[in-house]
Amino acid sequence: MLRYHGRDVAVRRAQMLGIPVVLGSATPSLESLANAARGKYARLSLRERVDRRPMPVTRVVDLRRDGSGGALLSRPLLAALGERIARKEQALLFLNRRGHSHHTQCRACGFVPGCPHCDITLTLHLSPREWRCHYCDHREPASGACPQCGAALLRLSGAGTQRAERELAAALPSARVLRLDTDVAREQGTSEDVLQRFARGEADVLLGTQMIAKGLDFPRVTLVGVLDADVALHLPDFRAAERTFQLLIQVAGRAGRGRMPGEVLVQTCSPEHPAILAACRDDEAAFATRELAERREAGYPPFVRLATLLLTGADEGDVERASNALADAIRGDAEAQGVTVLGPAPQALARLRGRHRWHLLLKAASAPKLRTVLATGLAWAESKARPASVRVVADVDPVEVL
Ligand SMILES: [Zn+2]
Ligand SMILES: [Zn+2]
Repeated sequence: MLRYHGRDVAVRRAQMLGIPVVLGSATPSLESLANAARGKYARLSLRERVDRRPMPVTRVVDLRRDGSGGALLSRPLLAALGERIARKEQALLFLNRRGHSHHTQCRACGFVPGCPHCDITLTLHLSPREWRCHYCDHREPASGACPQCGAALLRLSGAGTQRAERELAAALPSARVLRLDTDVAREQGTSEDVLQRFARGEADVLLGTQMIAKGLDFPRVTLVGVLDADVALHLPDFRAAERTFQLLIQVAGRAGRGRMPGEVLVQTCSPEHPAILAACRDDEAAFATRELAERREAGYPPFVRLATLLLTGADEGDVERASNALADAIRGDAEAQGVTVLGPAPQALARLRGRHRWHLLLKAASAPKLRTVLATGLAWAESKARPASVRVVADVDPVEVL
């Protein structure tokens, strides 16, 4: 199987047909921003909201100080919610649950373990107990205490929207709350129904996952709360900072769309992180400049071409052996082409729907070099060398490397 990015296929097809292509987004990718900066794309900006309505004011709540003992809703956020409810305005609370359970963070100082080679978050493994980089397979013993401040380290197991709902009911018993996540969407048929009830004013607060981050337009919403900006920030993916920036901009875009001005509260243990600072100032240029410099330094797109070879199977031993065999099969070509091969390593989502997942990460200076090595890899996958129980997927310019 071979995957390509839909956006890039559209751009290429437009090129082949000699027609213009319009990419539209409130949060363009760094690749597109870099193409615009290089003059490859013409950039058109909409700088103002409709009727020149003001952009919302964003405030950071430092959970290391304002957290109420691990509660999902900090005191400043509860106070802001109380005000909105008293004024008969509405609020959106956003909790991204896509954090996986093996994310470690010190709630006292914000420390997160990172790979010294790959500039991504390390993933916690339990037997043996160690932190592992799932790009290059770097390993180190996982300590129980924070290496930075000595506090006990918590293993965060993605506290979800249901817990937030219970906290909300306890702290603000009069608040009328609707919840929207994949569980609700499944139980009650359609998420459309929940959104319509919220639009009709049947609730004060809509609490949800990324399902409520984009595109919604409720004029009475004057407060947006991001319960945990760190979930996205510390995903072990080289695009984690970019995702977080985009997510915060999109979520903030839900506040103050009507005549009443909006406010955004972002709860985080990493208030000094450049992605969070830039999002709070709505400063895309500052974010892009800094993030692009870091990508260049660490060797990630748009400065290199990336592809993954993903191997999945029901038996982990088979998958691991096949991954090593595939790595051996492409090594010679990779060296000849100057293509870096990272791994094989288990993916951060090491098991999905009963299948174990390992991958190889390929970094190349140009697309033709990458294609040459991928072709060798795919030839191996189509040969008898590949165990029948193991599936191979090549992902070119992957959207996620998780
Ligand atoms: Zn600490
Ligand atoms: Zn690494």
